[in-house]
Amino acid sequence: MRGMTSLPYIGRFAPSPTGALHAGSLLAALGSCLQARSQQGQWHLRIEDLDTPRCPPGTADSILRDLERCGFEWDGEIVYQSRRLPAYQQALDQLQQAGIIYPCACSRREIADSSISGIDGPVYPGTCRNGLAPERTPRSLRIVTHSELLCFDDGIQGRICQRLQSELGDFVLRRADGVFAYQLAVVVDDAELGITEIVRGADLLNSTPRQIHLQQLLGLPTPRYAHLPVLVNQQGQKLSKQTLAPPLSAVGPLAALRQAMHALGHPPPAEIDTLAAFWQWAPTAWDMAKVPRRRTMTPV
Ligand code: GLU
Repeated sequence: MRGMTSLPYIGRFAPSPTGALHAGSLLAALGSCLQARSQQGQWHLRIEDLDTPRCPPGTADSILRDLERCGFEWDGEIVYQSRRLPAYQQALDQLQQAGIIYPCACSRREIADSSISGIDGPVYPGTCRNGLAPERTPRSLRIVTHSELLCFDDGIQGRICQRLQSELGDFVLRRADGVFAYQLAVVVDDAELGITEIVRGADLLNSTPRQIHLQQLLGLPTPRYAHLPVLVNQQGQKLSKQTLAPPLSAVGPLAALRQAMHALGHPPPAEIDTLAAFWQWAPTAWDMAKVPRRRTMTPV
């Protein structure tokens, strides 16, 4: 219920500029934008460009141009994670002072050889938790997890619970190559923007308990979450540059938006035949309850 005291709605879309906007990423852009607009809220854009080797130059600009071409309008300045490194360092310092992060010397190979597989690759067995042998070189920084059940109620997917320690293990906050981990950056940035609800693809559902764990340790609020079904190809792979999703330019903005709305459970009436008509119709038609309660789906 939205009473006088309820927070204003602040949402966001946070693409990684690893490839052009395509049907899959458009779905997350559209779902997050319409959820914000339908509540008279703000909608921000954040470019998640921390992993620079995976972000070809010009890709962020091409995503922004495609969003503009589709008629998206965002609020405020665009946030670039690559310009926010001191904020991530500060969060790490805070966790370090609290004594809940530690250096880890294990290579991927060592972890794979000494662990069972969990929900997101091998479960880190805690090898370096109690300190490194003197001859070992620190590589990454990890955060201590616990074995209590961590649950949240997702606006689309229902109740999701995880035991971080047994399903994932202590996870990385700064990688061996010095790059801050997505899990840390996203939590710091969502709090900085005052995000009240995160609407994004269900490929990130498994990351959410890690993010809630970090919010709790950093003393940050936990927003609401709603994870949209992710478009997959016939082989069940998420549409992406790697799986050769056609770029938006292949279908054109209006057709792409209409398809995305259809996939999100809102088939547009035939008379929605211009971008202006689309943007007039879509925020009023939007109802999160109509979004298919699935984690994946194939394009319509
Ligand atoms: N940058 C992430 C991605 O493109 C999304 C992060 C998020 O929405 O939390 O997969």
